Amino acid sequence: MSSGVQQRKKSDISSQIEHGVSPEKKGPEPKNSLAGRPRRRRRAPGQPLAREWVLGFGLMMVGVLLAGYFLMSRHEKVQMEHLREDIIHDKVEPMSREWEEKLAALEEERDSLKKEVTESAQFKEGKTQLEEQIHQVEDIREKQEHDIQHLIDYKRQMQRNIELLSKTELLEKFGPGPHYVEINLGFDPEFPKGNESDGNTGRIVIELAPVEEMPHTVYWFLEQVNRTLYDGCSFHRNAGHVIQGGPAPNFLSPPEAKLNRRFVDAGFHSVLFQEYSPNFPHKKYTLGFAGRPGGPDFYISTMDNSLLHGPGGQTNYEDSSEADPCFAKVIDGFDTVDRMLLSPVKPGNYRAMVTNVAITSMKIVSYERKKEEKGETLTKDEAEEEKVKNEVIESSKEEKLSKSEKEELVEEVEKKSKYLKHEIVDSSSERKEKEVVDEDSESKLKNKLAEDVKQKQEATERKLENDSLDLDGVLKIRAKRREKRRIGQPMKLLVFGLALANGFVVPTMQHANQLKTSNSLFVATGDVATEEEVDCVVIGSGLAGLSCAALLSHCGKKTVVLESHDTPGGCTHSWTRRGFHFESGPSLYSGFSMDRSPNPLKNIFQIIEEDCEWITYDRWGTVLPNGEKFAPPIGPEGLAKTLKQHGGPGAEEEFASLMERMAPLSDAAQALSSLALREDAGAVVTLLKYPFELFRTLQQGQALNEPFSVIMDEMKLKNKFVINWLDMLCFLLQGLPASGTMNAVMAYMLADWYRPGVTLDFPKGGSGEIANALVRGVNKFGGEVRLNSHVDEIIVDQNRAVGVKLASGKVIRAKHAVVSNADPFITNKMLSSARLAGHLSNEAIEYMNKLINTDAEDGGVPNLKSFIHIHAGIDASGLPTVASEDFPTQWAVVRDWDLPEGVEAPRNIVLCSMPSLIDPSLAPEGKHVLHAYVPATEPYEWWEGLDRDSDDYKKKKEEAADFLWSAIEEYVPDARNRAVPGTVQVGTPLTHERFLRRTRGAYGPRVEAGKSTLPGHKTPLEGLFLCGDFTFPGIGVPATAASGAVTANTLVSVPQHLGMLSKIRLPEK
Ligand SMILES: Cc1cc2nc3c(=O)[nH]c(=O)nc-3n(C[C@H](O)[C@H](O)[C@H](O)COP(=O)(O)OP(=O)(O)OC[C@H]3O[C@@H](n4cnc5c(N)ncnc54)[C@H](O)[C@@H]3O)c2cc1C
Repeated sequence: MSSGVQQRKKSDISSQIEHGVSPEKKGPEPKNSLAGRPRRRRRAPGQPLAREWVLGFGLMMVGVLLAGYFLMSRHEKVQMEHLREDIIHDKVEPMSREWEEKLAALEEERDSLKKEVTESAQFKEGKTQLEEQIHQVEDIREKQEHDIQHLIDYKRQMQRNIELLSKTELLEKFGPGPHYVEINLGFDPEFPKGNESDGNTGRIVIELAPVEEMPHTVYWFLEQVNRTLYDGCSFHRNAGHVIQGGPAPNFLSPPEAKLNRRFVDAGFHSVLFQEYSPNFPHKKYTLGFAGRPGGPDFYISTMDNSLLHGPGGQTNYEDSSEADPCFAKVIDGFDTVDRMLLSPVKPGNYRAMVTNVAITSMKIVSYERKKEEKGETLTKDEAEEEKVKNEVIESSKEEKLSKSEKEELVEEVEKKSKYLKHEIVDSSSERKEKEVVDEDSESKLKNKLAEDVKQKQEATERKLENDSLDLDGVLKIRAKRREKRRIGQPMKLLVFGLALANGFVVPTMQHANQLKTSNSLFVATGDVATEEEVDCVVIGSGLAGLSCAALLSHCGKKTVVLESHDTPGGCTHSWTRRGFHFESGPSLYSGFSMDRSPNPLKNIFQIIEEDCEWITYDRWGTVLPNGEKFAPPIGPEGLAKTLKQHGGPGAEEEFASLMERMAPLSDAAQALSSLALREDAGAVVTLLKYPFELFRTLQQGQALNEPFSVIMDEMKLKNKFVINWLDMLCFLLQGLPASGTMNAVMAYMLADWYRPGVTLDFPKGGSGEIANALVRGVNKFGGEVRLNSHVDEIIVDQNRAVGVKLASGKVIRAKHAVVSNADPFITNKMLSSARLAGHLSNEAIEYMNKLINTDAEDGGVPNLKSFIHIHAGIDASGLPTVASEDFPTQWAVVRDWDLPEGVEAPRNIVLCSMPSLIDPSLAPEGKHVLHAYVPATEPYEWWEGLDRDSDDYKKKKEEAADFLWSAIEEYVPDARNRAVPGTVQVGTPLTHERFLRRTRGAYGPRVEAGKSTLPGHKTPLEGLFLCGDFTFPGIGVPATAASGAVTANTLVSVPQHLGMLSKIRLPEK
């Protein structure tokens, strides 16, 4: 009911109540209501009877009807019942069955719907989960995309940095360019000839891409060339569209040439990234690096390969959008390139040449491009000259020299030219060295260089003239034979032409470039003067500096070693020339081939888990002043034999009693490893790791520091041979006679050399391998050794060394320490700015002043003398290939025992070494490599102030060489006649000073036992530490390694130090 209706009814009732009317007490009834029907009238008495009868009859009928009705309805009921039953039977049951079925179906449907609902709920849930996962994946993808972008940006930044660094290096080392490289080739006689005149040699000159276009690739290639890595490699593939060259052997290669290894070892195998400039595409006759990242193989395109090798050209690489670096173009020798295309190839897709073309050498040369090539017109004179040259060359062809003769001649000329060129290259690197050391003003330097170059140019021209005249002579003889007259002149010009092409005549352009290059060594250009921060900076890569850096890196200190030279190792560096491997300094080692060793350097190798491969050998020769020679095995038996044969009566007994006297000292000297030392209170802990050894050393402490001569006196040694022998051993160890050598040094040495089963050890590959092993140690723990990085200044802030400034202007800050491995005089110079600026404390100034005081009378420590050296490769035909008593690997020559200065007298003792007898890989097959020097007896004063280009200097050098050859000839009588041209190098104190950065070329400090002591490694200038042979424990390979270790130990924590000590394996006591 609507609320409106209810409302109405309610209001009706209420209105009635309101008017005081009860619902029962109604007013007059409406007409149509029951109450309003007319009432039946009552029968009056005396009315007729018929009316009652009708009434009775009616009633009876009603009864009948009622009974009938009831009877009828009962029957009907029965019938209905039947009907119902029938209906139930016929309709309801089937219907109910049908309904039941329907119901079941519905239930089933309901169940399946229920299931579907559940499933859809699950699906929904799964969907939600999936959506979540999709979101997560999208997030991850987004993050990855971001990361990838970051990496791409980072990669680009790295590439830019690499380009910047490469450019800096390139400008410093090779000047601004244009840069030219000459590729000299050797063709197998069977190799097809392009035309009649093709001989067995070929030459291609290439011009490198401008520095701005391809700084990294150009730098990389120039370094590879400069390091002679391609010399001996080959052009080995003729792919049709390119001729490919690289480290593959050729018909000239020695059997086991490890050409690829050279690139790997030098760290210049493949470029660091695929640099490409659209301005330098892969046109015909351009050069590109092969592979990804490219190198060391390179190729010369023999067609336009811009599409094939340009961006996107090589789809088989990970990032096909990159391109091969294209970095140079051929400017001369196109015929030679074309000739290589004639090479037959082996079956297969690679198209390897049947006979590889030898790259005999690759050199950076200066090249004056012909004016026509530059699009300039020749002057009349130049045109005339060119005409004459061409005529002469033509006429030389007409002379119809027999081909082999001509080739022979050309080869001869090339050989001479190369030899001369070597000299020029050497002298230019000498100049470079000088530039770094020299602190003259820039203009003074320029003038000096200009003068140098001029003199060198004149000298070279003179030399070329002479050489060509020599050749003229040869040619004239040949010409006479054939009665041909005009042969001398053409060949003379040909010689000159070849020389020019080889870059021997220093043209003006080269001169200019040299000046620019040299300037860039000193001037910090904007882009090189960057800053960086590390934990420790080590100045110098001598064995001390490298040992220190390797240990610091091992202990997690980010360490950078900065080395002036282009090779690590300082006195122990090595270099290669013409296939000979030369070493600048040490060659005598022991205590490396055994696992348990007291040698500190061996122990350092154990800590950093790097080492050399050690070849053992056992003899060492001596030539006495009376001409007697002996080379017995080292060790007690060999010594006994020597003493018996050369010492005369009593020698053996005296030596035996000395060894007995020295035994406790030897025991003490070898007891405690110097690696346990550190220069702070932590030493108490690290030394106490070896309590018994410490006790033994302390027990002999005083005696170990006394001069060895004290013991010799105490023993009352009389045998002259024994006394001289001991004096010589002292001198070879420390550069001092017995009177100045500490007992500790001799005690250690006697125990080491004269123990049963002792061997001498030599590092396979030469002494440079020792430095290389340490460099590996620095690198593997995240440190770095940077070559060509001359340090100018140690930066000091409030009496604390906080970094260094390089000659390039770059600043490297050191959070923890600056360690100087340079000698004290150089270290002092590096502090001069700080001194001037008043940043050094008085204590630091006094300390440095004391270090550089060489006046013994004023309490200073003088320097030992310097050296003269000869290095040479010799022809070994007929010489033994293995060492023996008659032909030792190393020998000492003593000229006089009785000079007033004794063993220290100038040029009295010479040491010679022929390491190719131990390791044949150090010289080409059939050759030996030699080194002879006077150890620390050459007065610097004899050479001081000499101009290296002066006749005086040259004369002195010749005398020195003559003297050194004579010592070599004690065992190789005709050695100087066997010398391989271009390999003889004579070093003087000036060379030593320049190349090894040793002030006045000194061997080290002349610290006399009992009179003075060596400084330690800590300095009063906070943050500045020292290491090297001018510090404790002094000169020699083991000693300098120990000095580097003590410095490193002091800079690391005691637990780190103990951790290192736990890795070393000392001899069992
Ligand atoms: C000819 C010779 C033969 C020897 N024979 C033996 C031997 O047979 N056995 C033996 O045990 N010992 C021998 N020695 C001794 C031994 O080689 C040395 O004592 C030892 O190698 C010196 O090492 P060092 O680290 O102290 O210094 P160095 O080797 O002199 O190293 C110092 C380094 O510092 C660099 N440097 C200097 N100034 C700067 C600067 N401003 N910026 C960057 N870098 C700079 C130098 O270029 C150099 O590389 C010999 C030495 C010589 C010279």
